[in-house]
Amino acid sequence: MLLTVLGCSGSVPGPESPASGYLVRAGDITVVLDLGNGTFGALQRYLDPFYLDALILSHLHPDHCTDVSAMTVYRRYHPRRPRGGPLPLHGPTEIAQRLAAAYAPDAAERSVTDLSDVFDFRPFGDPFRIGELEVCAAPVDHVCEAYALRLSHAGWTLVYSGDTGPCPQLVEIATGADVLLAEASWSDRPDNPRGIHLSGREAGEAAAAAGVSRLLITHVPPWTDAEQVLSEAKAAFDGPTELVHPGAHYDI
Ligand SMILES: [Zn+2]
Ligand SMILES: [Zn+2]
Repeated sequence: MLLTVLGCSGSVPGPESPASGYLVRAGDITVVLDLGNGTFGALQRYLDPFYLDALILSHLHPDHCTDVSAMTVYRRYHPRRPRGGPLPLHGPTEIAQRLAAAYAPDAAERSVTDLSDVFDFRPFGDPFRIGELEVCAAPVDHVCEAYALRLSHAGWTLVYSGDTGPCPQLVEIATGADVLLAEASWSDRPDNPRGIHLSGREAGEAAAAAGVSRLLITHVPPWTDAEQVLSEAKAAFDGPTELVHPGAHYDI
């Protein structure tokens, strides 16, 4: 698999990066994990957005799904759009209603567009396949319905935490992964709220507990000291650990 970072700024887009979005190529399958603010522009550097096999959303906070509205406009109104059916869009239970409400500004418009002409909405359930790519989604600990994602292809595994506080479900789904792409939204302090995000230390501890081979730290907000987060993660996990940056590619 090849992981490309479209954006990695936590919670909001930042001066150096869009919000969360990741392009994953696995053999002849291409998917995007999350499509936060600004990532649709970055996506177009790497491929025509018509040639995606699926879009997978970890959860429905704006920094992870806002640019689905841009994808809607592109796929619905592009003057040279190719033939083809709706794009499979996997995500939480209320994915269809949430994205229609984000796109259409009033009840009158929502009554005539549910986005089903553009997307084939598929709420998470059992593990599923996109060609040769296997995808498993596990509920994690956030302020809304949110999932960590495990992608497996040809014997290699990438796990993406989405947004989550420390929880056993994250360790379970990440067990033995080649790469854990983990959020770390703040540095470690005793007064951090519980059940929302990881600190750098907690991301490192999850990687260690899961026995992953490599830890990639993402979702650091503009107001958080990224180097502090990284040093905490390295203190808790002795495998290769780095901060991702937009445009970076990782072979998995
Ligand atoms: Zn987020
Ligand atoms: Zn969130």
